[in-house]
Amino acid sequence: MEKNEKSSTDNGNEQVESLKVLILGSGPAGLSAALYAARADLDPIVLTGMELGGQVSLTFAVENYPGFPDGIGGMELVDLFQKQAERFGARLEYDLATEADLSERPFKVKTQNGKLYLAETLIISTGASAIHLDVPGENEFIGRGVSYCATCDGWFFKDKEVIVVGGGDSAVEESLFLTRYADNVTIVHRRDELRAGALLSERAKSNPKIGFAWNTVVKEITGNGAVQNVKLQDTQTGEERDKEIDGVFIFIGHSPNTSLFTDQLEMDDLRYIVVDHLMQTSVPGVFAAGEVADSHFRQVITSAGMGAAAAIQANHFLEEHPLDSD
Ligand code: NAP
Repeated sequence: MEKNEKSSTDNGNEQVESLKVLILGSGPAGLSAALYAARADLDPIVLTGMELGGQVSLTFAVENYPGFPDGIGGMELVDLFQKQAERFGARLEYDLATEADLSERPFKVKTQNGKLYLAETLIISTGASAIHLDVPGENEFIGRGVSYCATCDGWFFKDKEVIVVGGGDSAVEESLFLTRYADNVTIVHRRDELRAGALLSERAKSNPKIGFAWNTVVKEITGNGAVQNVKLQDTQTGEERDKEIDGVFIFIGHSPNTSLFTDQLEMDDLRYIVVDHLMQTSVPGVFAAGEVADSHFRQVITSAGMGAAAAIQANHFLEEHPLDSD
């Protein structure tokens, strides 16, 4: 195949497409990888996954991405990333990878829409998903008072009372956002000090709409059709109490979306993909970028940088390891 040639055939009911670079996920890492791979004339395809833009698309405002001194909306930033990648020829497919076989090149990826991609290199940027509290009532009331996204659901809690579970940057940032709508936001944290950075913590502590339940955990969420009550427990005394509430927002961290690659790629104890400084995974030709391979920084800018690096390295890899058909 020529450098930027793709082939597409029908194999029974399955559409098969061969390509140089397949990118899984459309967050800052995936779209930055797409931009760099497209500018290297590799005609990349991005499988967007469930959520175009990933977690940042659910963020109301991004204030720490350079180039936007007044901040920018999360979805607006994703839109700009997408436009820039597409301008150089990247193709976005609104589809989800359901199976991956990394045992030999080209790597095989099957999708929800019934396509089979044969990819000479793969860039995994599938991100991470919100961790659940795992308490009775949580799953039952998702979308009916239990939420993992203030930007998506905050509006439903206009003039209401909500709790936010967690003490990290996400919990505090989302609490501040929720004060636009809710009358009262109580941050329920299992310790007596926030994990969040000083600036955000100070903003929350000085906001009259935000209160704190320190050394407290949620034991159960109850209601009748929608959330009405939470059972809280004091972690020091063990004492339990009920609190009437309209909404429960949970921000206790994320876990990486790596289940497709179990037993195929080296992962750490928390199941993040292990990469070296060139974004190479344990399988030559497979690269990973963004939060799926980074449990430490998890910033838009670091994810975008990892995505760019993965695409640059995928280009080198293709030059050094051409397949027979090239
Ligand atoms: P995080 O920093 O891991 O914080 C998770 C919070 O949830 C911690 O306070 C933790 O308590 C609590 N928690 C964990 N498991 C729990 C459980 N089972 N029950 C009750 N509480 C539990 O996660 P994050 O806030 O999502 O942030 C992730 C990363 O993204 C961080 O590196 C953060 O700096 C970054 N981030 C940055 C920004 C920003 O720069 N504006 C915004 C959002 C996120 P403990 O404190 O006791 O462990």
